[in-house]
Amino acid sequence: MGSESAAVCLRCVDCAADHALEYRLACAACGGLLEIVYDLARLADAPLTQAGRTGVWRFAAWMPVHDAANFVTLGEEPTPLLAAPRLGAALGIPRLWLKFEGALPTGTVKDRSSQTAVACARQFGFDAVGVVSTGNAASSIATYAARAGLRGVVCCYTRSTAAKMAHLHGVASSVVWYDGVYDDMIRPFDEAVERRWLFDGGATRNAFKQEGKKTVALEVFDQLGRAPDYMVYPVGMGETLLAGQRAWKALEAMGRIARAPRPVSAQSREANTIAEAWRSGGPLRPKTIGYTVAEGTAVGDMGAKGRLTLRRIREQDGLAGDAADEETLAMQRRLARTEGLWAGPTGAVPLAAAARLAREGALDPDAEVVCMVSESGLKGDWPAPDVRGQQPSLDVIRRALGRGDC
Ligand SMILES: [Zn+2]
Repeated sequence: MGSESAAVCLRCVDCAADHALEYRLACAACGGLLEIVYDLARLADAPLTQAGRTGVWRFAAWMPVHDAANFVTLGEEPTPLLAAPRLGAALGIPRLWLKFEGALPTGTVKDRSSQTAVACARQFGFDAVGVVSTGNAASSIATYAARAGLRGVVCCYTRSTAAKMAHLHGVASSVVWYDGVYDDMIRPFDEAVERRWLFDGGATRNAFKQEGKKTVALEVFDQLGRAPDYMVYPVGMGETLLAGQRAWKALEAMGRIARAPRPVSAQSREANTIAEAWRSGGPLRPKTIGYTVAEGTAVGDMGAKGRLTLRRIREQDGLAGDAADEETLAMQRRLARTEGLWAGPTGAVPLAAAARLAREGALDPDAEVVCMVSESGLKGDWPAPDVRGQQPSLDVIRRALGRGDC
């Protein structure tokens, strides 16, 4: 039986050493990050999508899973790509498109990489897959592990939202609830990964896991029929930007598009290491971060992934922006009222950062811009708005409509 995949080897992003396509998390020669290399001629010969498939498997040739028996899916449809000229004009980005990832099964873009994480865990013979998370990644990995009949052993901190914790409690076969912060739990988790107790579903280094995220770019190309001028990504570990741009660069190399979109990194002001390095022209400097409403971008030390993200942004003439929490929350409401999309704060960061870049003149007002809205707001905890009840009557409806009489 022929392989579904056009993947051929792993390649080090630092020393370019090639490695066989096996479960390996770092370059044997220099310890650098690995990326999967594909046979572009084979991708170019095949149709972009495969009929009858769902989720990331519509693009099976672009994924590193060789046997369709290992695919895992919850019947995902392509997420909506919505023209937003009204909101765009108000923000100074009239040719604005929104890619709404809140429509995925667990309400976040993470469902794309969870499909490849769990399928690759199967491919390499693991019976458990895990991740350390503040909530979204853990629920997503656990969801697809459940669907595949594998154990989802996930680590989640006890300060996550009630909605996320309830979801995780329901779906995961085993949850390690931990006190403290992400950095405290990631070391013991990495040790468990080194011992091959479970498959690494995290974003720090696993080249196989991240591949599903490429499909956000492939879908935009399929829906739009061209490359936009810019694509705006939320950046925590940089995984979505790196994977999305690899797909665009492959389409460019194959001659399907003239030029890949310029990548735009969007971070919370609280955790804006890429934006600061991009503005100063200097190297990436880790920072100690406090609280931000945009939990998905709350990474102060991105490590090697961060250095690679910054390098790709510079190589590809990209931009990097940030948004303060109050700008993000204002954009969350504006997006809901203007376009009907209720995003979580992390999902609103790309739009808030893009609006700021447009105001500052860094984003060309004639450019076509695809902005990711990476998560639904339905899993957040929000204090009830401060409201005062009224006696039910026709009159209160009349006043709400601004009618003088009837
Ligand atoms: Zn290397």
